[in-house]
This record gives sequence, C-alpha cells and structure tokens, in this order.
Amino acid sequence: KLPKPDIVLDCTDNMETRFVINDYCKKNSIPLIHSAAIKSYGTIFVVCNGPCLRCIYSNNSIFEDCSVSGILNTTSSLISSIQCNEALKILAKKPYEKTLLRVNLKNNEITKIKVNKRCNLCIDRPMKQKLIVKKCSDKGGYSVTQNPIKPINLKSIKKHFNVLAETPIVLVIKEKYEIIIHNYGELLFKNAENTKEIEKIARKVFKNA
Ligand SMILES: [Zn+2]
Repeated sequence: KLPKPDIVLDCTDNMETRFVINDYCKKNSIPLIHSAAIKSYGTIFVVCNGPCLRCIYSNNSIFEDCSVSGILNTTSSLISSIQCNEALKILAKKPYEKTLLRVNLKNNEITKIKVNKRCNLCIDRPMKQKLIVKKCSDKGGYSVTQNPIKPINLKSIKKHFNVLAETPIVLVIKEKYEIIIHNYGELLFKNAENTKEIEKIARKVFKNA
C-alpha cells in the first residue's frame, strides 16, 4: 500500500495506466497533474476537485503512439516544465490552471479548453429507484409499487396533481389516466396498457410523494 502522497504527476504513456492513476487520485482526493506529449504537441490537465481524465477521454479513445509517431525532445521538456510549475502552484496553495492546456510547438499556439464534469466518478448519478409494475388480473389495469415499497404522502400528491376523489387513505388523481393511490405505497392505473408510459408517470408521482 502506498503512503498518501501530497500530489501525483502523471508522466505515463498509455491510457490504461492513466485511468488507474486518475481513479486512485480521485478516490483519495489527491491532486493529479496529467501530462501527455507527442510529436510537437503537448497536453496538461490538473485534476483537483473539478473534472477528471474520464471527463475528457473515454475508454475507447484512440491515441497516437510516440514509439510510432515520435516526439520532439523540446516538446517533452516544455510540457514537463509546465507540469512541474503547476505542481509548485498547488503545493504552495496558489491558483492553478483549471483548463485543459494544449500546446502546439509547430506554431507556438496554446489553447485553453474548459472541461466540464461528465463522468460517473465526478457526477453522483442517483440510482434509479426500482419499480414493480404488475398487470392486475382482477381489477384491470396496472399496479405499480416502489421496491422496497414506501408509504406515499397523499397531502404532498394533492399539491401536484389533479385530484378526482379522496379518502383519508386513498386518492384518485388524473394524470393522463385515472390513478388510484393507496397511502401504503401502491398506484393503480386504470385502462392503461403502455407499461413504459405507466412507469414514467409512476416515477413522477413517487417523486412528489
Ligand atoms: Zn471525471
């Protein structure tokens, strides 16, 4: 097991290793400075609180290989200098580069690209609540419950939907279909057949419960 470092500088040459380092640093909140260089082009990106390498590259990204395409030694020295400079800024707690920096030594062009969080590591995507959708043999229509079943707050439902009838434990609403809502957690869709649509409406109801 590695002791927790203050910072990691990634100077590797393949995506598999870069992703392993990226995921380790993300998981352990260690600032990571990614660098890559080929021919006369170089890239630097600081992964620190914000987006990560997986927000930029996918597993299927195809890259040139420097063993085939070659690399100018001036490119690697420039990119490594910028990378070390970013490391100094982070260690000294100074403002560091937030964009993806691309350097082209052919024409000395430096491009700054804003990266947004978009990978599964950086965005907490809520797990989709599992629903049980069953055709009711006796009542006709469909029954929908959450899995595990959860009680429904009828008062809250009343604020968001068109109520046709109510008792203390049951509510009948109209949301495209007539839906009977039992406070113990079950929805009954009358005269509905399209299960995809039923599920979509059920999610809307549960969201407001
Ligand atoms: Zn990410």
